[in-house]
Amino acid sequence: MADVIIIGAGPAGLSAAIYVQRAGKQALVLEAMTFGGQIVNTPEVENYPGIRNISGFDFAMALYEQATGLGAELVFDRAVKLEELPAGSGEEDGKTIKRVTTAGGAVYEAPAVILATGAKNRKLGVDREQELTGAGVSYCATCDGAFYKGKAVAVNGGGNTALEDAAFLANYCSKVYVIHRREGFRGEPQMLTALKEKENVEFVLNATVTKLIGEPKLSAVEVTDKITGGKREIEVEGLFIAIGQEPENKDFANVVLLDPLGYIKAGEDCMTGTSGVFTAGDCRTKAVRQLTTAASDGAIAALAACSYIG
Ligand code: NAP
Repeated sequence: MADVIIIGAGPAGLSAAIYVQRAGKQALVLEAMTFGGQIVNTPEVENYPGIRNISGFDFAMALYEQATGLGAELVFDRAVKLEELPAGSGEEDGKTIKRVTTAGGAVYEAPAVILATGAKNRKLGVDREQELTGAGVSYCATCDGAFYKGKAVAVNGGGNTALEDAAFLANYCSKVYVIHRREGFRGEPQMLTALKEKENVEFVLNATVTKLIGEPKLSAVEVTDKITGGKREIEVEGLFIAIGQEPENKDFANVVLLDPLGYIKAGEDCMTGTSGVFTAGDCRTKAVRQLTTAASDGAIAALAACSYIG
């Protein structure tokens, strides 16, 4: 039995594990996919204080090594159920036991749980999106970009991920179309300015992708102008969808409150309202979802969990 079960091994979960171990408690981290969360898909991190430049993968690896080096246990299995056992069924001081069941059928129990489940890529919702994923449609430029060397591709989105992906792809693709549904960008002005300077980048604004064309692989996308309603086909072999993330917290809605978008309701103290259950990172309600705020949440949730355990 661990002291704290941490669900999710992204920057928030691994930061929490580091703080739990350093507080002299035992952390068990459950991860459904791979450690590092979304940051592994980021080519370069340049806004983490104290580190001028690092690849997302190297950052994730360093976090993993730090957490496991301090003794945190990491198990690759998806947590699918969280239960709060009735008071009096084990733990002293009136603290309830939390039981976590995994997809692999394992059952873990601890007095405290930190939900650090992050978020997953939002889907565009156009026909054949699923079918063409891996055949031209991708959600990860750093993972799949190399397949499109010398080819024309499109990036859909207007946030930092889309801008970063477009800049990365422009280094070796013949042409990069940035398709965004409005004129203004959510991403950092500095990144946008740098992208505008690249000769092989073309912006297609006030436009949405309405059709994926090509058999058996993507060969073009149809975009619809939101103002005029006009349609246009753009020949591309790759479409990188970077339109934000969505949380995946439904499995825990019996124990914590979710907002209408599915984020776990919690303030900056990372308290969920259920005693002994904390939350950290992109999966919770918050204004700023960044690496720095995920790490900060990890520390806050871990220290709160350790203080709760006593
Ligand atoms: P994001 O900031 O939420 O941006 C999503 C973009 O997709 C927005 O431009 C949005 O348009 C557009 N969009 C959303 N739904 C859409 C739909 N159904 N169809 C078409 N377009 C749609 O997401 P993100 O870029 O993945 O970034 C997530 C968080 O990570 C942000 O806080 C970001 O700053 C952070 N991040 C930071 C870095 C970095 O600092 N190096 C790198 C990557 C990400 P509207 O603008 O019109 O809503």
